[in-house]
Parts: sequence; C-alpha cells; structure tokens
Amino acid sequence: MQTITLGAVDITRVVEWHAPFVPAPVMFPDADPRMWRDNASWLAPDFWDPRTDQVIGNAQTWVLRSEGRTILVDTGLGNDKDRPGTPPWSGLRTDFLDRLLAAGVRPEDVDVVVNTHLHADHVGWNTRLVDGEWVPTFPNATYVIARADFDYWNPANGHPKRGALAGADAEGDHRLVFEDSVAPVHRAGRTVLWEGGYRIDGQLSLEPAPGHTPGSCVLRLESGSERALFIGDLVHSPLQIVEPDCDTCLSEDQAQATRSRRRILERAADTKALVFPAHLAGHGAAEVRREGGKFAISGWAPFERTG
Ligand SMILES: [Zn+2]
Repeated sequence: MQTITLGAVDITRVVEWHAPFVPAPVMFPDADPRMWRDNASWLAPDFWDPRTDQVIGNAQTWVLRSEGRTILVDTGLGNDKDRPGTPPWSGLRTDFLDRLLAAGVRPEDVDVVVNTHLHADHVGWNTRLVDGEWVPTFPNATYVIARADFDYWNPANGHPKRGALAGADAEGDHRLVFEDSVAPVHRAGRTVLWEGGYRIDGQLSLEPAPGHTPGSCVLRLESGSERALFIGDLVHSPLQIVEPDCDTCLSEDQAQATRSRRRILERAADTKALVFPAHLAGHGAAEVRREGGKFAISGWAPFERTG
C-alpha cells in the first residue's frame, strides 16, 4: 500500500531515491556507537547497515489530497542539478515525475508545494530544466516557504558558511540550491513566504520548528479524530526517536533542533499523531509513545517497505 487515509486526507508516498547516504559517525558525531548497536535489531536493514555503518534513507515526497486539492510535502533532489559538494545528488536523472504520474498526479494538478526547509534534498523538484532555464515544475502551485529560511539561504543576504555534509563545496551548493530551486519559483510569483504559522486548509497547517535550519517547519494534519505530523528533518534516523538528544552535523543550531524535536515528539506521543520524518525508509512513518524521558516506537505505518 502506498496510500493511507487519515480522516478525510489521503496520503501517498512517492519515493525518488533510496540509498545508504552517509557514515553514521559523520552524520551523528555525538552519538555513542553503542546506540546503533543496541538498536540494531530494528534499525537494520531499513535504516542502518551494520556492516558499513552507513545511515540509510529516502528522498521522497508525501502527496496529500485534502479538500479537493493536491499538496506536495517536500520535493526531493530533482534532476540535472549541479551539486559539487554532494556528488551523489549531482546530475540525477530519475523517473520521479513518472512515479508521481503513477500516483495520479500530473505536474499541473498540484495546488500547493510545501518545503519543510530549503536544503537541497527538499526543494529539488521545485524546478526542472527546460531549454536551459529552471522553471517551476508545478506551474499552477503555490510554493509555501518559511520566510526565515528564504532570508537565511538567500545569497543576497550574505551566505551562511556551515551546515552541510561536505566542507569546502558546501557553501557553493547552498548558493546553487537557492539559485536553481528556490529563486526561479519566487521570480515566477509562485511563492508565499510565511512567518509565525500558515494554514493550508481546514485540516492542514504549518508551524515553525527551528534548529535544523532557521525556517524548518512541521506540517500538522488534524482531520476528525486522526492526527499526523510531517516533521521534515527533525528526525533523520529513527534512532533519534529513541535517542532524541542525538542531532546531526547538518543542523544550523543543534541545541535548538533538539528542543524542537523533543517538543514535537512529545505532542505526537500525547495526541497519537503519526510521525512522518522526511527521509524515513522502511514503512515511512511511525507511531511513538513516551518512554522515560525519551520515546519509543509503538508501530509503523502500513506503507510498503522501501528497500
Ligand atoms: Zn533532508
């Protein structure tokens, strides 16, 4: 199953990319290696490869159908992008748009695109290359972006110097991401830059959850008695659900990211909201509960496993 229904909202998973993407000690420099081994029985094989110590994840888009409209949550890596700082993401030629079509979504059908933040792996399909120009992939969509991220990553404001996997080229990648995947949709007049909060419709809304980036946000689904939280990169590996104080080398502000993660996971546990981390492989989403001062995973969503 790649579509589930929560209340009156259909949620479809469209996977763009699935791979081991970075050694665990690089991504989680502060995590005790024992944490991985102690949880190996369920982290492997979907989320961690114990032989190579690599973190495994997806780039994927969540397609929501709500109140007659089609909403995309994050747009993955995109094709033809130049990413010298992260070569595995450079010059991709995936069939993502065909997969989206197989899920019943033509580009012109998309009404709203939500970028949970403006990293390369969340904005890629915002645009595509047509005759040498980056144009909005979803010509009729409103692209909903937190102003805090738009301003932070905008090269015109003087560019941040850190916060990526690969030292020297990281700064260049951030500039390229903005120029090829964010600026073109803004120039086309298709963006809404929001502050404080943003309501998409009667069942879906956005709220800030800063730290990973200044404008990182969470999409909240409340429909009937059903709840879900699309939490972007508050969690990269489900290890961070059971060890919520583990943050990654990718955060702009690790302490703030950890506070946001704890706050949102507490709410998920207390309101029985299904948790959708952006990159979760396996079954794609998790039910969580409080356990001691941490959290435990009580179940997985019924999406087909990726792997
Ligand atoms: Zn990400």
